[in-house]
Amino acid sequence: MAIDVYLSEEKIQKRIAELGAEISKDYAGEEEVIVVGVLNGSFIFMADLVRKLDLPVQMEFLGASSYGDETESSGNVKIHLDLRKDISGKHVLLVEDIVDTGNTIKALQELLSGRNAKSVKVCSFLFKPARLVHKVKIDYLAFEIEDHFVIGYGLDYAGRYRELPYVGIWSEEEK
Ligand code: 5GP
Repeated sequence: MAIDVYLSEEKIQKRIAELGAEISKDYAGEEEVIVVGVLNGSFIFMADLVRKLDLPVQMEFLGASSYGDETESSGNVKIHLDLRKDISGKHVLLVEDIVDTGNTIKALQELLSGRNAKSVKVCSFLFKPARLVHKVKIDYLAFEIEDHFVIGYGLDYAGRYRELPYVGIWSEEEK
């Protein structure tokens, strides 16, 4: 197998600083924002992003999975960890690793609707428009990418490679 660097560490960090400034500006003056990371993939992106926010934030996590050990979405989203906090009257910023088919974001928006949040916005590290099935609104996006299966910076292949500081394209071909 081989991994080609697709988004370098430097490029990622530069973009996250820009995104952090944009989000801080949009929520300026608000009492608090609950930043909700979608596990497992978003934890590295969220850790870097929140350190670029100049806002009062609380952090929570939701556990969702749709891929199993495959590289294709099953379309069947399992929620295996729900929020511990009441979000009514709060601003919620959902942080995703990647929006691919849109199944996960759609399922999470359904889960959170009806909990009376003041607002629910989506911030995704990556977006792969080629494979989108559901029309989803991404309020903040770090990078739009082509139709590749990517790993690193939180994203896995069968549970591995999340720790890479860059995003790479995984392929089975030997180089
Ligand atoms: P969706 O539900 O939008 O199809 O996909 C969302 C989830 O699928 C992501 O949170 C991520 O865990 C996984 N996923 C989608 N595309 C990729 C990819 O290119 N690489 C990896 N490692 N995971 C992906």
